[in-house]
Amino acid sequence: MNNSFATQEIIILGSTGSIGVQALEVIAANPDRFRVIGLSAGGSNIDLLISQAKKFSVPVVAVNSNGDYARSIAGEIVVIDGPSASAELSAIPCDIVLNGITGSVGLAPTLAALGAGNRVALANKESLVAGGDLVVDAARKGGAHRLLPVDSEHSALYQCFLAGKRSEVKRAILTASGGAFRDRSDLAGVSLQEALAHPTWSMGPVVTINSATLVNKGLEIIEAHYLFDLDYSQIEAVIHPQSVVHSMVEFNDGATIAHASPPNMKGPIAYALGAHQDGTTDRVNRASNPIDWSTAHTWNFAPIDPVKFPAIDLARHCGTIGGALPAVFNAANEVAVAAFIGEKIAFIDIVKIVSQSVDKLAHIGGNTPRDLSDVSAVEDDARQVASEFVQAL
Ligand code: MG
Repeated sequence: MNNSFATQEIIILGSTGSIGVQALEVIAANPDRFRVIGLSAGGSNIDLLISQAKKFSVPVVAVNSNGDYARSIAGEIVVIDGPSASAELSAIPCDIVLNGITGSVGLAPTLAALGAGNRVALANKESLVAGGDLVVDAARKGGAHRLLPVDSEHSALYQCFLAGKRSEVKRAILTASGGAFRDRSDLAGVSLQEALAHPTWSMGPVVTINSATLVNKGLEIIEAHYLFDLDYSQIEAVIHPQSVVHSMVEFNDGATIAHASPPNMKGPIAYALGAHQDGTTDRVNRASNPIDWSTAHTWNFAPIDPVKFPAIDLARHCGTIGGALPAVFNAANEVAVAAFIGEKIAFIDIVKIVSQSVDKLAHIGGNTPRDLSDVSAVEDDARQVASEFVQAL
């Protein structure tokens, strides 16, 4: 047994969500390596937040809501509440803030954590999509190795990059499961229930819809650009239905290095939490199950049909123009997905509305947001415009 690891102090944002719950399972299995010093959640699942805080003896919790929860939380747990509770919690000094919040509301806590000198394990890809330049600037100020990818594809890329020099990287290839509709040709009449049935990953509803439209892969292309300083021409995406190869890096000698493991977010979560200040990582023993080579496997790869899945080219367009346009892409998509979940629009209208919103707000695309309030203003515009397109249908 190796007990030589220094204990990493961890804050988990979005602890009651899919990423947060799995992170706590990794931590529970490795109590000598990790200690949880803060948890945050939205207002909808306070009971679970409290039981997590008690189980892990967490001194501080943040409730991102306007409710008065202080009285309802027993014992000596300090409660931060209000709309910026997660951002306040993120600024408490620790080794790693794991941001498992869904949506661009995760941007403020990411900036707060980096601003306070904390490293950030980023499962919240919207932080980089909505505020990529701000996040990268904030991360650079504190030196290298301050942004740790948790998204499975980006964790895979990070690990594949270790096989060569950065100057030798030809391109990065993100894999996409293809979502619920990869084998269907006509998406015009698909239902909400069908869209929510993801073939390989179990995730929250918004991410599952984003997988069905491939908007999620579009967001991940933008995320890869900011995380790894890659040109958009160097980032590709390919359909891989088994979700076992999580991404690949091609080097200039023609070699492709791939990262493979059965789909399980505990692997990338543990790899991020095992990262040290100096850029090295200690892998977490048995973080997830390995591939079983005693049975036969077939791995398929296929190019993405740009007509069936227009989200990829749209995301690439927004990313290439840069500035505020990725924030518009994401905010408009959040509105459109909510409208689809509310059964107000059809599945194929989601990306249509995002595309119309991006076109309508193209004039602000060139302006790079200077701060969080610039991002919020652009997002408000995008939500307004997208809502109008929803109403018009
Ligand atoms: Mg992913």
